[in-house]
Amino acid sequence: MELLYELDDEKNLFRKTVRDFAEQEIRPQVEQMWDTGEFPYDIVRKMGDLGILGIPFPEEYGGAGGDYLAYAIAVEELARVDGSCAITVEAHISLGASPFHYFGSEEQKREWLVPLAQGKILGSFGLTEPEAGSDAGNTQTKADLVNGEWVINGTKCFITNPGTEMSGVVTLTVVTGVRPNGKKEISNIYVPKGTPGYNIAPKYKKMGWHASDTRELSFDDCRVPESNLIGKRGEGFRQFLDCLDGGRIAIAALAVGTAQGAFEESVNYAKERKQFGTPIASFQAIQFKLADMATDIEIARNITYRAAAMRDGGVPHTKEAAMAKLFSSEMCMRTTTQAVQVHGGYGYMDEYAVSRFFRDAKILEIGEGTSEVQRMVIAREIGLR
Ligand SMILES: Cc1cc2nc3c(=O)[nH]c(=O)nc-3n(C[C@H](O)[C@H](O)[C@H](O)COP(=O)(O)OP(=O)(O)OC[C@H]3O[C@@H](n4cnc5c(N)ncnc54)[C@H](O)[C@@H]3O)c2cc1C
Repeated sequence: MELLYELDDEKNLFRKTVRDFAEQEIRPQVEQMWDTGEFPYDIVRKMGDLGILGIPFPEEYGGAGGDYLAYAIAVEELARVDGSCAITVEAHISLGASPFHYFGSEEQKREWLVPLAQGKILGSFGLTEPEAGSDAGNTQTKADLVNGEWVINGTKCFITNPGTEMSGVVTLTVVTGVRPNGKKEISNIYVPKGTPGYNIAPKYKKMGWHASDTRELSFDDCRVPESNLIGKRGEGFRQFLDCLDGGRIAIAALAVGTAQGAFEESVNYAKERKQFGTPIASFQAIQFKLADMATDIEIARNITYRAAAMRDGGVPHTKEAAMAKLFSSEMCMRTTTQAVQVHGGYGYMDEYAVSRFFRDAKILEIGEGTSEVQRMVIAREIGLR
C-alpha cells in the first residue's frame, strides 16, 4: 500500500523543541559523558518531564499521545547531538515499554506502562543470550511454572538500560515449554528490578555509546508471579518480532541523526580548515564527499519516515522497517567514515565530535538485527525462501 508521510507545522515545532533541548541540555555534557561513561540522570529525568520517554504511547497510560513519526524525529534529533542519550530513549520505548503497550493486560499497563511512559522508571528488553544472538529462537533461558510462580534460570547479554538507578523492569524472552512439533515454546515474562535471583553485572566497556547502560543479566532461581507473563503463553517470538519492527525504524532514525551530526561537523570544518592557502571546502574532492553525505542522509531520512508512517497507518511494514534500518545504518557508517576523512588527523582525536560519531555508528549495523539479518528479512519479504 502506498503511504507517504507529512511533516506538518506540529511536527516541525516538535522537532524544534527536541533540537533546542538537545542543544541546551545535552550538548554541554557530551564530552564529559563520553569520557566518564556516567549515565546522564539529569538529562534522562528532564526527557521524562518533557514527555520524550513516552512519545508514542496514549495519554491515558502516561504517554504523550504522539505517533511513531514524531518518535523517529525525536530519536534523530537526540542522536544528532549524542548517541548515548538517543539509545537510552530508543531502548526504553521500543524494547522496554512497547511489550506492555502492545501486549500487556489492562492491569499490567496501569502498573508498568504508566510509570515507563511518564519516565519515572526505565525499561529494558532481554532477548540476546551468549548462544542466541541473530539466532534468537535458540533462547536457553528457561521459566518453569511451579506453584503459581515462574522460576527463571539463564543469562542475557548486551542488555540496554537495566542497571541504572532509574531502571525498573526487564522483559525477557524465555522458554516455557516444548511445542507439539518439538520446537521451543517462547514466552515473554517481565521481572521487576530487585527481584531475588535477578543479578545485574557491572557495565560493559564499549567502543561507543559510552554513557549508555549495557549489562549482562543472570537469573538464578528467580521467582515471579504467573501473572508476569505478557500476552499469551508461547507468543513471545511473535511479540518481540513486532516490537523489533518498530525498534528497527527507531534505530534507522538514530542512524540518520548520527550521520546528520557528523555531516554538519564536516561542513563547518571544511569551511574553516585551510590547506594550500584555501579552505578545503573549495576542493572538489571534499565537496563531492559532502554532496554524497547529504544525498545519502536524505534518502535514509525519507525511507525511515515512510516506514514510521506505515507503522502509524497500521499497514504491514516488516520489509520497510528492515530496509530503513539496513540502509540507514550502513549509510551512517559510510558518512561517519567520510566525516573523519574530511577532518584528517584531527578527526582521529577524541575531542573532535566526528571521532565519537564514527565509533557510535558501528553498533547500528549490529543491534536489533545485524545487516545480514536485515537482508535475510528483506529476502524473505520479497518472496525468497
Ligand atoms: C551496545 C549494545 C546494546 C544492545 N542492546 C540490546 C538489548 O537491549 N536487548 C537485547 O536483547 N540485545 C541487545 N543487544 C544485542 C544485539 O541485538 C546483538 O548483538 C545482535 O543481535 C547480534 O547478535 P550477536 O552479537 O550474538 O552476533 P551473532 O548472531 O553471533 O552474529 C555474528 C555475525 O554472524 C552473522 N550471522 C549470524 N547468523 C547469520 C546467518 N544466518 N547468515 C548470515 N550471517 C549470519 C551476523 O550478522 C554477524 O555478522 C545489544 C548489543 C550491543 C552491542
